[in-house]
Amino acid sequence: MQAQKVDVLVIGAGIIGMTAALELQKAGRQVTVIDRAEPGMGCSYGNAGWITPCFAMPLPQPGMFIKSIGWLLDPESPLYIKPRPSLQLVSWLTRFLFAMNDKRLRESVAVLADISKYSLEWFDQLNQRSQSFGFDRKGLLMVSAKESGVESAKVEMDLMAERGIPGRMMTGDDILALEPALRPGLKGGVYFPTEAHAEPLDTVKAVVKEFEAAGGTILSRREVYDFEFQGGRVSKVFTTKGVFDAELIVFALGTWSRTLASRLRVSIPILGGKGYHLITDSFEKKPSHPIMILERKIAVTPRANSVRLAGTLELVGHDDSITPRRLNAILTGSQEYLHMKPNPSVSEVWRGLRPCTPDGVPMIGFSKKYSNLFYSLGHQMLGLQSAPGSAKLAGDLIMGRTPDTDPRPFRAERYE
Ligand SMILES: Cc1cc2nc3c(=O)[nH]c(=O)nc-3n(C[C@H](O)[C@H](O)[C@H](O)COP(=O)(O)OP(=O)(O)OC[C@H]3O[C@@H](n4cnc5c(N)ncnc54)[C@H](O)[C@@H]3O)c2cc1C
Repeated sequence: MQAQKVDVLVIGAGIIGMTAALELQKAGRQVTVIDRAEPGMGCSYGNAGWITPCFAMPLPQPGMFIKSIGWLLDPESPLYIKPRPSLQLVSWLTRFLFAMNDKRLRESVAVLADISKYSLEWFDQLNQRSQSFGFDRKGLLMVSAKESGVESAKVEMDLMAERGIPGRMMTGDDILALEPALRPGLKGGVYFPTEAHAEPLDTVKAVVKEFEAAGGTILSRREVYDFEFQGGRVSKVFTTKGVFDAELIVFALGTWSRTLASRLRVSIPILGGKGYHLITDSFEKKPSHPIMILERKIAVTPRANSVRLAGTLELVGHDDSITPRRLNAILTGSQEYLHMKPNPSVSEVWRGLRPCTPDGVPMIGFSKKYSNLFYSLGHQMLGLQSAPGSAKLAGDLIMGRTPDTDPRPFRAERYE
């Protein structure tokens, strides 16, 4: 089959692929983005919308070992690992357990905070150019009804203070004064005043608009299904509507990276971390700040006329079935903490698969096997809040500029 020649082909039009495409287009490359759906319809569609450097934490954290055994047994836990006989799961979990130490945590937090802080300012500037994506810098409240929750929030606050991300301790009364939508009875928490939130799909659309205005091309509803390789490079990309020969390929397929990478005879350890959202307007008092309910790991995000309740992380691979029990856990957990109406009406239920690497750090870098293949994937719970920073790092490495962020923890060859 004859191939159409292109300069840069970005595969995957989620927030990661789109911000990388914009960065490269602005750097003078001619970029084509391809996706099997419309831009932003994967995991980037319905996340909590938080742009919060204070959450620049990898998934594996010290002290999780004992908890993770409990999670295997408790399908109601906020992080659930469905036990199943799978070599892929065993290998992923082994690497995950090895990454659970203080040294790795600090190394990961340093670089994740760097790319997240860059991203927050980038989105702030995007908002000054286009007020179309619901960007608001109201800060973020982490709240808990338990002393142990308040203590863990303080640990996170201190860790983030080392990275220049300000937070302050709050008593239960301070929290209620700032956010009366919460029910009384909280022990306390932390307020991070400089954080932001936005509408996730509208954010992708705002990036798409800038990308197209800069001369980039988007080809949606074309599925990539195979590759051909020759002389150490990927020579052909087969899609359901045409074949491409690209000078450079940016692989930004989120959770689906693993499947397509196998067509390249490359093994990438990405597992899907399933999460849900529910959209409801059934509030007696509507929250006006993003809130993390620590015990339940529920993310509450105010929207123009409703509220998004998001949560759970279920390591599942590609299974995107909806479990009503987990949706109910988000709803009842929210009712416990917020002034909601007794029988809430829900206008949308959604699930998404977070692309999770075992060490919780994305893969951003060139393939060691193919000279024209670059990875940007595996952004776990942080894809929105770290996308422009990831794109800047990708742009620096591709364009031969000195990166602002240490690229080593992101090296793709640690897994490829
Ligand atoms: C419940 C929940 C809440 C979250 N909250 C937050 C949050 O508040 N803040 C934050 O920063 N992150 C959050 N996240 C994580 C964030 O959503 C992800 O990290 C991010 O969306 C990943 O973006 P991506 O571009 O890598 O993947 P995706 O958005 O999934 O993009 C991958 C793209 O690849 C395309 N594709 C797949 N297969 C093919 C193929 N064969 N051919 C062509 N195209 C293909 C898909 O259609 C898709 O558009 C949350 C996630 C969940 C599930």
